[in-house]
Amino acid sequence: MNKVTQSVLISMLPLMSGSVLANSAVVPKQTPSSPEQIQTVLSGGISGDRWTEGLMYEGVMPMPWLKSAANWFPRTEDVQPEEMRVTFMGTSPMIRPGQMNTSIYVELGNGDNFVFDIGEGSVANYVAAGVALNEIKHVFLTHLHVDHFGGLPYLWMFGTWNGGWHEPLTVHGPSGSEPQYGTQAMVNGMTDMLAWHKDSFSLFPVGSGHDLQVNEFDFRNNGGVVYEENGVKITHWQRSHGKDGSSAYRLDWNDMCFTWTGDGRPTELDIQYAEGCDLFITELQTELVEIGSAVQGVPPFLTRYTIDTHHTPAYGAGYLANAIQPRMFMTTHMSYDPYQTEETVAEVREHWKGPYHFGAPDGIVVNMTKDAVWVREGVLPDYPNSKPPQFDFTNGQLVIPEPPRKQVDIQEQFIRDQHIEPSKYYPEGMMPDMIVEWPVDGDLVVPEEMLPDNLRNSMGANWDLQQKRDEYFDNKTKQQSK
Ligand SMILES: [Zn+2]
Ligand SMILES: [Zn+2]
Repeated sequence: MNKVTQSVLISMLPLMSGSVLANSAVVPKQTPSSPEQIQTVLSGGISGDRWTEGLMYEGVMPMPWLKSAANWFPRTEDVQPEEMRVTFMGTSPMIRPGQMNTSIYVELGNGDNFVFDIGEGSVANYVAAGVALNEIKHVFLTHLHVDHFGGLPYLWMFGTWNGGWHEPLTVHGPSGSEPQYGTQAMVNGMTDMLAWHKDSFSLFPVGSGHDLQVNEFDFRNNGGVVYEENGVKITHWQRSHGKDGSSAYRLDWNDMCFTWTGDGRPTELDIQYAEGCDLFITELQTELVEIGSAVQGVPPFLTRYTIDTHHTPAYGAGYLANAIQPRMFMTTHMSYDPYQTEETVAEVREHWKGPYHFGAPDGIVVNMTKDAVWVREGVLPDYPNSKPPQFDFTNGQLVIPEPPRKQVDIQEQFIRDQHIEPSKYYPEGMMPDMIVEWPVDGDLVVPEEMLPDNLRNSMGANWDLQQKRDEYFDNKTKQQSK
């Protein structure tokens, strides 16, 4: 410790000890004030019904388990058993550092999660939000514009690499007017594009992770069920977005509903299928075509033509919300800029007077139960660590599958002969036990008790939480059957 630091510390001592004494002072007991006086002071003049003050709405309020009512800090709150949590992981069609391309993450209290669209760059926000990529098993694509699926190749390849070994990713999406425009065709093309990457990563224990599943549904089958499992039902309907093969999704679970329309012009189908949905999310475009061109550099006719053939004007978004009457209306897929936020609200408010928040910029979080809904700003770090891959320890083991390929199969010997002898660059006394070949014949099987505590606890965190959730739902079922 240098002299200056020492003297600063010493000079702080009296201040610090003084404040400790002040906090611990005992105030002498007095006669209580009247209940009316207490109520007036503690409620700030509102008659006990504080959450409907101002323009706040019934049922729009923070839940007691939120660590902060203003911010969401990743990895500090478990999704409660009866709760739905929705996070905006990408919020704009125009990618930029504060706004990745569109993606919405839905987590349910039963432990299930669902990704709706996976735009370019959004994976960074999943990582920042503390989601292990191997936790993601179901991706629902509204349509095949690249701003809605650009993150898929990375999610598939790296999610598989880091623990996505035992359950393949399933991509759900609409058919097209012809087979080459459907979700299956896109995945086939993506698989071709990834030929080198996929073969290269076959040196790793990828298990079934490389067997991507596709669930392509008929885009015309309005109201059709895409997914139904574990009390979760997801339906779809078609949207008018320039070209056939664009869909909206509605998820129903635990008497609560989430809708993401994806892109498109407002239609009567949206009202028909989303009516009464608790959380209704659509995209919008604010009517600032000429000013927008000056700010964003997009020629006015291009914006006008794009909106009128592909998108929901803010006025139309408010019109939809008013017809659907959600508990919370949100808009995303929008530039979050000071010059247009007030204008956007004003245009939406032309028709919709109920609860409304932006699903932008990235990291906005919605907590929803049957009684309450609350929207916060998520604090996503720029330099997060990634969450360890999550495993199910039901069988008491960690099974690491045998890699499908060996290095000698996919690389000529010549370049390995050119390797510099590692002892030339490792310092004296430092020579790692290098793993240049898969160390066992077949799968590597590790009994749970042989895993170091930090690995077992971090890789089994979701599984441990799931036991508590299952217990909660078991008890609930028992209570209900009494
Ligand atoms: Zn889009
Ligand atoms: Zn689009």
